[in-house]
Amino acid sequence: MPFDLKGQAAFVTGGARGIGFAIARELAGCGADIAIGDLKPEDAEASCAKLSGDFGVKAKGYAANVSDPGAVEKVFGAIRGDFGRLDILINNAGITRDGLVMRMKPEDFDIVLSVNLKSAFLCSKEAIKIMSKQRYGRIVSISSVVAFMGNPGQVNYSASKAGMIGLTKTIAREYGTRGITANAVAPGFITTAMTDALPENVKEQMRASIPIGKFGTPEDVAQAVLFLCSRESGYITGNVIHVNGGMYM
Ligand code: NAP
Repeated sequence: MPFDLKGQAAFVTGGARGIGFAIARELAGCGADIAIGDLKPEDAEASCAKLSGDFGVKAKGYAANVSDPGAVEKVFGAIRGDFGRLDILINNAGITRDGLVMRMKPEDFDIVLSVNLKSAFLCSKEAIKIMSKQRYGRIVSISSVVAFMGNPGQVNYSASKAGMIGLTKTIAREYGTRGITANAVAPGFITTAMTDALPENVKEQMRASIPIGKFGTPEDVAQAVLFLCSRESGYITGNVIHVNGGMYM
């Protein structure tokens, strides 16, 4: 166990699968109790059952569209009731709706900003209410390499992920004295359902641009997130860890 998170509770948005689930596993492996908020409650509950079975921690799945203010308030109320505290928030839920600028529909811009960025604001706001009282908290938001490099076809997605960096730095400035740190992790190309959908030629092009020569795994991202969630990272705030095999440096 690299870090001791026993007695702590973590909420991972979009944690039923992919990178979110890998993060939940790392945290549970260090003893943290886990809440997962996802669109499909049955998927969130199935993932939580795996975590309790493997690590003996308390884990609970919630139905939560984290871009909806009412749903976010409700899920945080449930977490307060079920766990009595919140030490770690992972803003991970994310979607893509790709298209070149000239062809992108305004609704595809709005929904990506709403799910990827507004959700991080809504969840951070609720988490900070609990964390300020505890005088302790760790907020980690999952941004992306495209926030820093741009990416043709992803004006909505790259804007949402760049927005998360501003959000992170502002929370870090506002709540540092309350013992709350806010950081971001910016993954490069990570093998998950989100990237499996890309055409083979695009994947080949991407692979060629990575100095380490291969795509990352959800666990590569989760290891960096785990460090930022530990007590040991307490003097790091408002920062970004890039996990991209050297694709952007
Ligand atoms: P993924 O496999 O598509 O998983 C995303 C999860 O978020 C799914 O469980 C999804 O639920 C959930 N979700 C979507 N919209 C939601 C909402 N409104 N409320 C609650 N949950 C919602 O994606 P991933 O590849 O693991 O990506 C995780 C995060 O890392 C995202 O923010 C993504 O932008 C970021 N990221 C990924 C990569 C990569 O290469 N994969 C690179 C950089 C950054 P459903 O199953 O119901 O759809």
